[in-house]
Amino acid sequence: MTVRTRFAPSPTGFMHLGGVRTALYAYLFARQHGGQFILRIEDTDQERFVPGATEVIYDTLRDCGLNWDEGPDVGGPCGPYIQSERKDTYLPYAKQLVESGHAYYCFCTKKEIEERRAAVEAAGGVWKYDKHCLSLSKEEVQQKLDAGIPWTIRMNAPTEGETSYTDVVFGDMTFRNAESMDDMVLIKQDGMPTYNFANVIDDHLMGITHVMRGMEYLSSTPRYNYLYTALGWEIPTYIHLPTVMRDSTHKLSKRTGDAYYSDYIEKGFLTEALINYLALVGWNPGTDQEFFTLPELVEAFDIHRINKSPGIFDPYKLEWMNSQYVAKMNFEKYLSLAAPWFDKVLAGRGTDYRRLAELMQSRTDIFSRIPEKIAFLAELPDYDTAIFFNKKQKSDESVAREVLPLLKPVLESVEEWTEQKIHDAVMEKIQEWGRKTGSVLWPMRIAISGQESTPGGAFEIAYLLGREETLRRLDDGIRRLG
Ligand code: GLU
Repeated sequence: MTVRTRFAPSPTGFMHLGGVRTALYAYLFARQHGGQFILRIEDTDQERFVPGATEVIYDTLRDCGLNWDEGPDVGGPCGPYIQSERKDTYLPYAKQLVESGHAYYCFCTKKEIEERRAAVEAAGGVWKYDKHCLSLSKEEVQQKLDAGIPWTIRMNAPTEGETSYTDVVFGDMTFRNAESMDDMVLIKQDGMPTYNFANVIDDHLMGITHVMRGMEYLSSTPRYNYLYTALGWEIPTYIHLPTVMRDSTHKLSKRTGDAYYSDYIEKGFLTEALINYLALVGWNPGTDQEFFTLPELVEAFDIHRINKSPGIFDPYKLEWMNSQYVAKMNFEKYLSLAAPWFDKVLAGRGTDYRRLAELMQSRTDIFSRIPEKIAFLAELPDYDTAIFFNKKQKSDESVAREVLPLLKPVLESVEEWTEQKIHDAVMEKIQEWGRKTGSVLWPMRIAISGQESTPGGAFEIAYLLGREETLRRLDDGIRRLG
């Protein structure tokens, strides 16, 4: 059997991280078995149409390297792969179900249904469609159809008994039919199939062998199985995935800005780190290995090691993982990714980005934090002179008061403003003065950066600032110290 998996998103305009993980697992499983990974767009709910939403799906999956073998843009033997373009596919199957008694035409108007629902609810009951139209005779149905009365087709759900199936992750599942099923609409008044119906028809027609999706579909699965069986089709293998959560009680949400793939990319996370981390939210390799490339994941992934309990998405763990990816990244790539973030505070200043990148690469956890870390290069922070004190470096305010005026002519005399030249000039004088290195370099660095901790030391910072700005900041320090 050739494994065929699919990712079947509804185009909402955003890619939820849970969706990215579903796509990832479906991709890994297909690749691992030399099978096919299919992309299908489930857009039969036209009221929820969002322009540009399918592009968000394509772009995200491509960014992540989750290339599909068949899908809307690449085509394939089971196309089209956009459900709204398959509109005519579904009605014949619905009619077949009507013929076999597993479905029926319904002519109830919205208003009629609302009235009956209100009555049931007023009496304290729970409304489900009451099979009102099931009792119409074949002739009555034909008359109404001929008269052009608007119709839908509903599933004739069993009201007794149970449905059982085995899920790869959640094991044996049993649902009471009376609770888990209702006479859901299969074909809507506009002729479009409902999501639940199209999903089953397409999974079958597209030869999907393994259905991977969020665990919220566990309880809908009995309805799908009812349809598969009624149509005489084989039920696929189900692999329901635990929800991706913020913590044990909260889902990732749009409101908290942590739910969508784009939220993370905008914050400057790397796709490779995100994919690596997502793979581990809900699955573990059974070894200590934490870092995986996509091909390594294809090798290591094992559906039997997917957890049942919700996967907690820990942003701090992701930040750590991201920083590891950044640290190991090829320097040129780091430079190209970091430059736009440097620009946010240093644009137009002519700062040596290459040197800055060398200093920042090991200090970058997520790219969006770069601007705050280098802001002091653009503007001297308003600092408290108490930070001139450092016991270990033998510095304090009075030492700084002596040293800064001495440093000024030394720096002024540096002709070629390179790190090496600045270093040589200052070190030579330190020797001459017979002072401790720290007692000069600490005040120098504080005065030109305005903060205790900086990427790089006094020479690097002086170099990045340029001569004029360095001297201006020294003067500022001298003034502050009074
Ligand atoms: N269209 C569904 C969703 O976006 C997919 C469900 C499934 O994979 O069967 O949640």
